[in-house]
Amino acid sequence: MPLMEEIRAILPHVGARLQADVVMATRSTFQIGGPADILFEPANATEIEQIAAYCFEKGVPLTVLGNGSNVLVSDRGIRGVVLVIGDEMSEMTFIGTQIVADAGIRLSTLAGAAARQGLSGLEFASGIPGTLGGAILMNAGAYGQCMADVVVLTEFLDEQLVHRSLVGAEHGFGYRCSAFSDRSAIILRACLKLQQDDPQAIFARIADLSLRRRASQPLDMPSAGSTFKRPEGHFAGKLISDCGLKGCRIGNAQVSEKHAGFIINLGLGCAADTRSLIEKIKREVAEKTGIHLEPEVRFVGEWQEWGQDGPAKE
Ligand SMILES: Cc1cc2nc3c(=O)[nH]c(=O)nc-3n(C[C@H](O)[C@H](O)[C@H](O)COP(=O)(O)OP(=O)(O)OC[C@H]3O[C@@H](n4cnc5c(N)ncnc54)[C@H](O)[C@@H]3O)c2cc1C
Repeated sequence: MPLMEEIRAILPHVGARLQADVVMATRSTFQIGGPADILFEPANATEIEQIAAYCFEKGVPLTVLGNGSNVLVSDRGIRGVVLVIGDEMSEMTFIGTQIVADAGIRLSTLAGAAARQGLSGLEFASGIPGTLGGAILMNAGAYGQCMADVVVLTEFLDEQLVHRSLVGAEHGFGYRCSAFSDRSAIILRACLKLQQDDPQAIFARIADLSLRRRASQPLDMPSAGSTFKRPEGHFAGKLISDCGLKGCRIGNAQVSEKHAGFIINLGLGCAADTRSLIEKIKREVAEKTGIHLEPEVRFVGEWQEWGQDGPAKE
């Protein structure tokens, strides 16, 4: 039986949340990426377990995404099943100064709801266009704060599909990484601890950070935010700019003139050009400064033809 029919038989009531041949450009903030064989948007942990168990048993590759705001999906797309944990799985509950929320909730929604409840601590996250799950995996952060400052517990499915949780320091949070970064666990929900404050003061801080973000980042163009991690003691954007790469373009992928730390898609850009530009920046910055930039953006899908330093030679 074809893959889609087999999965439909396991999940007969999910309607349009299960689709075949979905162009991933519609599911990533870069607006780049070829087709996913199957895309499924689960509404709860049980559905995740069902599809993950099927993939596990049949050896079908499973890729987990949130809002696709930190990924570059290859032009060939993604084989197997893409699990998009997003708006369909985004409930939250307040318990005193804590919030328990599903992995698919957007950080902006979470930060806004917390502010209305008079809970401070997520202002930094209000302008980060990711989900809670993606933000925990990345330890997303801005303006001196990060997820590590607020996350106290995370529930996930491990690689054997056993329900587990991490508490406090077990998260292994570091700069743009966590204990989830190099494994294939599926984050289901988390508990965050915030502090009481005046809602007006919280909203004022959110507005201030939003203004700062708008002033410095090319938010009107598709991107995945900062392309590279910040190298110790430096800023990636400044290094790129100092190497004369601001505005540098391959195809429709361009180093933003507004913020050289961002690569933007000028329209109908492709993953190969974007990846070539990333490799060119790495090469030139290393040659001119001796500093090795490490991508923050994660490469998803079929990239086999790419070696470590760019496209494999024919
Ligand atoms: C305009 C713009 C501004 C940005 N600003 C910032 C910023 O200030 N700070 C910052 O840190 N980042 C920033 N980012 C990057 C991005 O928004 C964050 O990294 C965000 O946390 C990614 O969340 P996501 O849901 O989009 O994850 P995705 O991009 O969908 O996925 C990222 C990684 O997390 C994994 N993942 C996602 N959900 C789950 C889950 N439930 N379980 C297991 N794994 C999962 C994916 O497999 C992938 O490896 C920005 C991006 C853009 C486009």
